Amino acid sequence: MKKIANYINGALVEPKSGKYFDNIDPSTGKVYSLIPDSDASDIDEAVEAAHKAFPEWSGMSIEKRSKFIIKLSEGIEKRMDEFVKAESLDNGKPIALAAQVDIPRAVSNFHFFATAIIHFASESHAMEGQGINYTTRKPIGVVGCISPWNLPLYLFSWKIAPALASGNCVIAKPSEVTPYTAYLLSEVAQEIGLPPGVLNIIHGTGPSAGDAIVKHPSIKAISFTGGTQTGAYISRTAGPMFKKLSLELGGKNPNIIFADCDFDDMLSTTIRSSFANQGQICLCGSRIFVERPIYEKFKTAFVEKVSRMKNLAPSDPKSKQGAVVSKGHMEKVLSYIELAKEEGGQILCGGKREVLPAPHNEGYFIQPTVIEGLKYDCRTNQEEIFGPVVTIMPFDTEEEVLMMANSTQYGLSATIWTSNLKRAHRVADQVQAGIVWVNSWLVRDLRTPFGGIKASGVGREGGWEALKFFTEPKNIFIKQ
Ligand code: NDP
Repeated sequence: MKKIANYINGALVEPKSGKYFDNIDPSTGKVYSLIPDSDASDIDEAVEAAHKAFPEWSGMSIEKRSKFIIKLSEGIEKRMDEFVKAESLDNGKPIALAAQVDIPRAVSNFHFFATAIIHFASESHAMEGQGINYTTRKPIGVVGCISPWNLPLYLFSWKIAPALASGNCVIAKPSEVTPYTAYLLSEVAQEIGLPPGVLNIIHGTGPSAGDAIVKHPSIKAISFTGGTQTGAYISRTAGPMFKKLSLELGGKNPNIIFADCDFDDMLSTTIRSSFANQGQICLCGSRIFVERPIYEKFKTAFVEKVSRMKNLAPSDPKSKQGAVVSKGHMEKVLSYIELAKEEGGQILCGGKREVLPAPHNEGYFIQPTVIEGLKYDCRTNQEEIFGPVVTIMPFDTEEEVLMMANSTQYGLSATIWTSNLKRAHRVADQVQAGIVWVNSWLVRDLRTPFGGIKASGVGREGGWEALKFFTEPKNIFIKQ
């Protein structure tokens, strides 16, 4: 059985405990590799290596550092096929999605921040007759990057790339349920000769390896993406240690559809925004609000299309709906479907686990599910499900839909469908979200700020925001 290794101080090593746990293929329910069960002693070793590497890495010319990060990008690109297969196998996502989105985006993330750092400039503020302020931006030191399982390498690289580009040394932990592409990344880091200690990738559980990162006194900043509860715990733990925190958390995003939208464009995009990656993208629109004049037309067309979506093995190039990530997650999603029924919801399609032919008969497949008849404020419509489950609800006025859209604790993203430009501006302005798409979904420009408000997070990633997070500004005033 393949054993995944930690990557510490430039070497692929076993966890100090010598313990491993199972890595399961979600499409079969079978173990296919073993994950290091790392703990605080592995993190200590990695932090020591990172500290040693920091002076040289942070003092290196930006051009030279940038070249290393471009090589990471190219190293993944060279092994594209292997990364794509690994991501699909580990996560249960359709191989076509990993090939079109996950791995190309990880390649772009490294490339983007490798070049962005060359153009990243600090500010100066002249005070007439008095002097000049100039602000320097220095790397923080050793930083922690903790990422979730839904877009494993994509989100991992979204943190590691700006952290490294701005001169920090990194202790990174991928989710224990999807460690494989992070492991392949450590092989790439070795292949390209990244100086030892600059990047350290430690595998293990959240409460053990993750917690040790959060609590380590020498790790001065934590960039975390994951659930809101975990984010709250990290905040409680790292806050009193005065660590810099970037928290990208959960969502319950509204998809607001007005009667004057381009119906066909809206319909095909809404299929994607509801069910891409089995609904396990933090930006998926899980609450669909439809203006009453087109509610029945939408319902009929949407349900007809969703009913035709089939769960297929993730390795099948035709697959658009794979498996959800784990047995525990499948059970959680199915329990929400039961809750929806108890709350008075009608299942318009899906609603069940799907059993595929062997060898996938024990895989974690859930039929894409559409539910109607629920109140906007019931638990199904307030809590994050993070699976292939959406609710549809009619509305009559802008005020009403904004009230419903803004009623959750979350504020990550929102989608608005209308051909009325004034309304688009008005609703985009008032919807409580950090990211709004009008007549589109998931169009991403890496320069834009990415993140949520309310319980969806603190801080922003992307572009200058990420480079600012991973550097400390110092203002210096010089008298004229
Ligand atoms: P979790 O919060 O369970 O885990 C996220 C990461 O944190 C994992 O690496 C996990 O490790 C680790 N972790 C868990 N407990 C601790 C701890 N006590 N201390 C330190 N680290 C810990 O989230 P999921 O992995 O289940 O991811 C799904 C969530 O992520 C959803 O809520 C989703 O909305 C959110 N998300 C948000 C995004 C955004 O940009 N706002 C983007 C993508 C997802 P392990 O897995 O080993 O337990």
